[in-house]
Amino acid sequence: MSNVLNEFLTTNLTELKENGLYNEINVVQGANGAKITIDGKELINLSSNNYLGLATNERLKTVAKQAIDSHGVGAGAVRTINGTLDLHIELEEALAKFKGTEAAIAYQSGFNCNMAAISAVMNKNDAILSDELNHASIIDGCRLSKAKIIRVNHSDMADLRAKAKAAVESGLYNKVMYITDGVFSMDGDVAKLPEIVEIAQEFDLITYVDDAHGSGVMGKGAGTVKHFGLQDKIDFQIGTLSKAIGVVGGYVAGTKDLIDWLKVASRPFLFSTSLAPGDTKAITEALSILTESTELHDKLWENGDYLKQGLKELGFDIGHSETPITPCIIGDEKTTQQFSKRLMEEGVYAKSIVFPTVPKGTGRVRNMPTAAHTTDMLDEALAAYAKVGRELNIIK
Ligand SMILES: *Cc1c(COP(=O)(O)O)cnc(C)c1O
Repeated sequence: MSNVLNEFLTTNLTELKENGLYNEINVVQGANGAKITIDGKELINLSSNNYLGLATNERLKTVAKQAIDSHGVGAGAVRTINGTLDLHIELEEALAKFKGTEAAIAYQSGFNCNMAAISAVMNKNDAILSDELNHASIIDGCRLSKAKIIRVNHSDMADLRAKAKAAVESGLYNKVMYITDGVFSMDGDVAKLPEIVEIAQEFDLITYVDDAHGSGVMGKGAGTVKHFGLQDKIDFQIGTLSKAIGVVGGYVAGTKDLIDWLKVASRPFLFSTSLAPGDTKAITEALSILTESTELHDKLWENGDYLKQGLKELGFDIGHSETPITPCIIGDEKTTQQFSKRLMEEGVYAKSIVFPTVPKGTGRVRNMPTAAHTTDMLDEALAAYAKVGRELNIIK
């Protein structure tokens, strides 16, 4: 092993461990459902992104197995050689219909989408206005494009307008884009899309909404853009197929020209093997389930409201979420981590999220209720919250 590498690894790992910042990864024994098993202990799971419980859905499992029988386990090539299977086309047509756009393109992950789509359109002669709380993959995607990145205060429309005006009037850039999450995963707040569209029209901004946490959740399932009826006004609707949709993958939905361009210019589409057949078929089935009925979506919101109400009645600060994402704000970083650890001992798995992921002093335990939770499970979780909350003097 290289001495330089060895020294680099030892120094950095030791430093992380000494500062208590080394993340020990929990291993889930079995499926990631409403309950999970870690170290042989069964826990109520409030930390997955499996909003609709589709990760273990029987219909999805059945069609995935059938697709493996008919198409194999791998796609065999990148999309542009001969890795475009009939299953991918079927999925992309279903995605476009679901999102209310002319066309859609599927990628191997949501992260990959942001690597693919931003740099296919933006370059060093352009500027990107980016909400300061945007997801890491958006930040990386922006960097990859080499465009000038201009941070915009979180959901601050006056700041967006001022920075859009300055960027456009500077004459320095050929194109200016605004990128935002549709739903912000730390606080559960929703992007102000109607105002964003207004500002975008005023300054001819390209609009890009990453709806990873909105798809399946907002707009009766179809996402945040559809929630506001703005399918014709947002240029890029992108998202993941791994959260509410329950499988893996990502997509961009937009005009036919945009999708045609991404098929020739986005590097992960050109140089990385396409989605596996079983996954592809399972995603298409998930979209069918969401189109047929809003039952899972409705159950998710019902559970979210129930958990929020329960935590509020106990006296916790649950922030200002507009979605089922339910932060429980504890404040101090150490107490937050201890809170999460004690919850786990009491049978509830809810991760602590602290600085630098969220601002200092706003450490929180973040709860992700899903459609798969029963009222009994939520009551059990609330009882654990009550016990630990009193023990740590967070509530009376
Ligand atoms: C989770 C997430 C992604 C990444 O999606 P994956 O499919 O898990 O790679 C991208 N953007 C946002 C906003 C996310 O929350």
